Formats: sequence, structure tokens, C-alpha cells
Amino acid sequence: MGYNIAIDGPAGAGKSTIAKKVAKEKGFIYVDTGAMYRAMALYFLKLGIAPEDSNSIAKACTGAEIKIAYEDGMQQVYLNGQNVTDRLREEMVGNMASKSSAVAEVREHLLSLQRELARTEDVVMDGRDIGTRILPDADVKIYLTASVETRAKRRYRELLEKGEDCDYEKVAQDIEQRDYQDMNRQVSPLCQAEDAVFIDSSDMTIEEVVEAIKALCR
Ligand code: C5P
Repeated sequence: MGYNIAIDGPAGAGKSTIAKKVAKEKGFIYVDTGAMYRAMALYFLKLGIAPEDSNSIAKACTGAEIKIAYEDGMQQVYLNGQNVTDRLREEMVGNMASKSSAVAEVREHLLSLQRELARTEDVVMDGRDIGTRILPDADVKIYLTASVETRAKRRYRELLEKGEDCDYEKVAQDIEQRDYQDMNRQVSPLCQAEDAVFIDSSDMTIEEVVEAIKALCR
């Protein structure tokens, strides 16, 4: 069994930035489970399935083979043999992912891949149900959050830097909607594991959060 650090929390809390840094400093692998859900979402979009069509999503799952590889320490996601990493951060893919990830068959489809990575490697894995469902025995569990305003501002800045045309109010609304969907779905809703350490990063720097997590590790 590898050493496992599980980081869960809502969209825009800074999980991936923090998890990547902790992984690098500890010499662990960073596993971005959101990217796996996004790759599944891309597959459903390619098939022309609507985000609300849970039945078709459930039926289509088995046709998506997701594989993870590490190139220069960066996670690459393969969908049916094709590297789709560059497409995963598109808004449309994220919106589909937040709907399709609520379908039990989609979660089941990714469960063994996530557990297998954690079994064979030392990992920092981020997501929504890592501490509660995927790795209930993780060595360190973190619930990382920040206020909606902080998260929306971060996301808005990120989009502007990418040169995307966006509206702050819309970004904040999307975040609230995604929170609602993640926290209220029937299967594996986002919640803090009983034994997770709660960190609100609203008034913390990235370095402060990284240090706080490292202090909890062996
Ligand atoms: O974290 P990220 O925004 O990349 O995740 C995309 C979507 O996948 C989220 O909106 C969330 O609904 C879903 N997700 C999930 N479980 C995970 C990781 C992501 O349900 N472990």
C-alpha cells in the first residue's frame, strides 16, 4: 500500500495547485481524479449525449477506457487511446462532468482505477469523495475549501489569464451551482470525512496551505 494523502473540497478551492505542490515536495504522484471525470464527460459529449440524460450516460460508460500516464511528472489522461489532456479544462467539459459525475455507473467505472493507483504508488489524490469513499483508510485526509467569493475571484482571474472572455457574476453562479450539485447528489456527495482536517484557504497563501498539509504527513 502506498502512502496516501486525500484532498477533497469544492470547485476552485485550490486543490490541484496545492496537491501538485505537496506531491512534488514529497516526491509523490499527483492524481487528479477530476480529470478522469472530465475525460468521461468528453466521451459523452462526443457521443452527443445531453448532460441531463442519465440513462444514456449510464449505458455508455463501458465504452470509455480511461488511462493515466505521467510524462515529465505531469498527469496525462488517455481516452480510448487518445491523449485528451488539453481538452479537459474546457467549460463545456466541466459542466458536463459536474452532471455526469452524479451517475452511479460513471463513479463505479473510475473507482478501481483510482484505488489501484493509490495501492501501488505514494499519492496525493484530489477529488470530492477520496477521503469518504475511494480511500477511507488514507494516511492523511484534508477537506480544503474557501469562500464562494474567493473561489470565484480565483477562477475569474484564471480565465482572464487564459484570454477567455468571461463575466464575474456568471463565474460565481457556476461555482455555486457546481457546489450545490456536488454536495446534494445521491451518490458520493461532497462532504468532509469525519477524520479529515478542515482547511479554509480564503486568507491563506498557497505556501501556508502546503506547509499545513506537510505538517500532518509522516
Ligand atoms: O475537480 P474538477 O473541477 O476537475 O472536477 C470536475 C467535476 O467532476 C466536478 O464538478 C465534480 O462534479 C466531479 N468530480 C467528482 N468526484 C471527484 C472529482 C471530480 O464528482 N473525485
